Amino acid sequence: MQNIESPHRRIMSGSRPTGRQHIGHLFGALSNWVMLARDNDAFFEIADYHALTTGYEKTDALQSNIVEMVLDWLAVGIDPARSAVYLQSQIPEIAEMHLLLSMIVPVAWLQRVPTFKDQIAALGPEIATYGFLGYPLMQLVDIAIVRANAVPVGKDQLSHIELAREIVRRFNHLYGATLVEPQALLSEFPDVPGTDGRKMSKSYGNAIDLADDDATTTKKIRAMLTDPLKVRRNDPGRPEICPVFSLHNVVNAERVSAIEAACRSGELGCLDCKLELAARLNATIAPVRERRANIDPASIPALLANGAERARAIAVPTLADVKSAMKIG
Ligand code: SF4
Repeated sequence: MQNIESPHRRIMSGSRPTGRQHIGHLFGALSNWVMLARDNDAFFEIADYHALTTGYEKTDALQSNIVEMVLDWLAVGIDPARSAVYLQSQIPEIAEMHLLLSMIVPVAWLQRVPTFKDQIAALGPEIATYGFLGYPLMQLVDIAIVRANAVPVGKDQLSHIELAREIVRRFNHLYGATLVEPQALLSEFPDVPGTDGRKMSKSYGNAIDLADDDATTTKKIRAMLTDPLKVRRNDPGRPEICPVFSLHNVVNAERVSAIEAACRSGELGCLDCKLELAARLNATIAPVRERRANIDPASIPALLANGAERARAIAVPTLADVKSAMKIG
């Protein structure tokens, strides 16, 4: 069994197939994945079972969302020759192990995960299904089945990793040391606001997609909200409440001090500020867009099949160990 003290670190992370990725994904999880995958064994999963937990009613776009997301992952630099990139539902062992582990997880442990109540409050009572309650358990299975010992997460996911560790300890206590206890690799992600100032999210319609062209990106940035009290060009502004300024912080770090001073003094107008941001952002994303345009979507199924084969090479024996430990099957 591996543990975190061993020099070998295996990273596992995943994302629901939400379609085209936006710059919030790039400057958040994806850049971190690319960096971690350089020095570690890495497994990146397209979590299509998880997509059903909140989107079970509308599955028409699921397959195209998978392809669009993989195209973006490859474009930002995830290398499928180095890391396994695979579809969750192509690893049937995940579903079986989820069923087996569901027998030992107290319902109260799942109900107390903060996102359970938060998501129901945000999305409505119809998502409060049996499958949705088990979402954090399936996250653990995703990690444990490939014997990953490190999981890159933001602060909001820490409670899921803590639960995952608790479940592994319970399993190992009941049946003997079988599963690897994963550790969280806490990552600080920059705040990437959407064009309306709220968190960037496809569901808010405020996202700048990686696949947008330069003109679309510039148009979206020109329409962004700024400080509402800066009405005329020479009015002093408050960068601390301006989402345009927050994006400068992410992509234009060497210029933020000058922009902040010029905004406060009234020397800088919002249009010029936005056009500088658009130019900088387009230049930053240009290599990603170029790579994306050169990837043939027809290559994705074979790539995912290869990733599934690599994940199953570990998942099949892990499930066999679990069944043997539980004396079943
Ligand atoms: S000048 Fe720039 S930072 Fe200042 S309020 Fe306008 S857009 Fe925001």
